[in-house]
Amino acid sequence: MTIDDAPREALRGGPRELLRWVATGAAVSRADLSRLSGLSPSTVSQRVEALINQGLLEETGAGRSRGGRRPRQLAVPTGGAVVGAIDLGAHHARVGTLDLSGRVVQARTLPVRIEDGPEQVLGSLLAEVAALVGAAAPVSSDGASAATGGEAAGALRGLGIGIPGPVQHATGRIVSPSRMPGWNGFDVAAFCAGRVDVPIIVDNDANLMALGAHRTAHSELDHAVYIKAGTGIGSGVISSGRLHRGAQGSAGDISHCRVVADPAPPCSCGNAGCLEAVASGAALVTALREQGVTVSDLTGVIRLIDDGDRHATALARQAGRAIGEILAVVVNFFNPQVVAIGGRLADCEPLLASMRATLYERCLPLATQTLLIERVATSQDVGITGAAHLVIDHVVAAN
Ligand SMILES: [Zn+2]
Repeated sequence: MTIDDAPREALRGGPRELLRWVATGAAVSRADLSRLSGLSPSTVSQRVEALINQGLLEETGAGRSRGGRRPRQLAVPTGGAVVGAIDLGAHHARVGTLDLSGRVVQARTLPVRIEDGPEQVLGSLLAEVAALVGAAAPVSSDGASAATGGEAAGALRGLGIGIPGPVQHATGRIVSPSRMPGWNGFDVAAFCAGRVDVPIIVDNDANLMALGAHRTAHSELDHAVYIKAGTGIGSGVISSGRLHRGAQGSAGDISHCRVVADPAPPCSCGNAGCLEAVASGAALVTALREQGVTVSDLTGVIRLIDDGDRHATALARQAGRAIGEILAVVVNFFNPQVVAIGGRLADCEPLLASMRATLYERCLPLATQTLLIERVATSQDVGITGAAHLVIDHVVAAN
């Protein structure tokens, strides 16, 4: 084992991992957990008992007998306890409840006017979470896992919130967001804590996407970078299997890295030629309008690209190159196993193709030899899934 492997190794068989093995169906008994973790049966039993006492695991009667006493099966409760999640975007929010394994119970998309300010926007989204929790009656998902029928419907265990702007991790405050007038300095966690009495975790939307995508598709890979390219642009970094936030929470924020662009368009931050001013969805809308093309929003831009419009396609290629240039620096520096792009621009083929080409052109061969470059599996629930995992990790770690 190298020194680099040590942090990941230390997690092996930790409560979080035991919970995840049961949640994913990899383990249904203490014996399975012992085999997967390499831990002694008594250590596994101790940890399982603790998880059961916290309501994070339950026993569901007898498994199949192999001659001796029938073993009790373990399951993640599907009936009562849920985690609330809000993935706030510039124009829409995805709101959901998820079970303690990170599976979506209910979710819906709501239109949002971010300029209405934090109290109004968050107030109505919290009301939506409460409505979903109230509606989350215990359900026996497939009959196989017994629902905890006696439990009150939808016991909320925590709330995870993704914000489309920089979030100071220690405090949950929003710091200088570029397209969120009235939100600067707002303490999201404190505002929500005054309304729901559960642990609340606030992070930026790119981090939530990174965590959701990593846990869903690539949890076996230790080093990954996820780009979120939508109205804005950002990234989330997974290092040694964990979300890497840096000292303040701004790790992965590539929006104001400078790219080669002539002329360099002005950016909302006061500089010019930032990635966000060249390659974000908002930048594409602005650039097309300046070329005299009538387009109202990012949906319109994507439609033009899909229709093969030459102005829109050229801009998408330029955006892909710009993202590729910044990513090449990141890949050379960080040496990830996978780079995945998500967000609404990820479906733009010309953008993806030029991003990929630039990456191969600018990266060290050793860095790209086995590098996976792909799309984040298109799911509108990836953000709320990441939010739920943040909360679940927090709840498990706190006990
Ligand atoms: Zn900028």
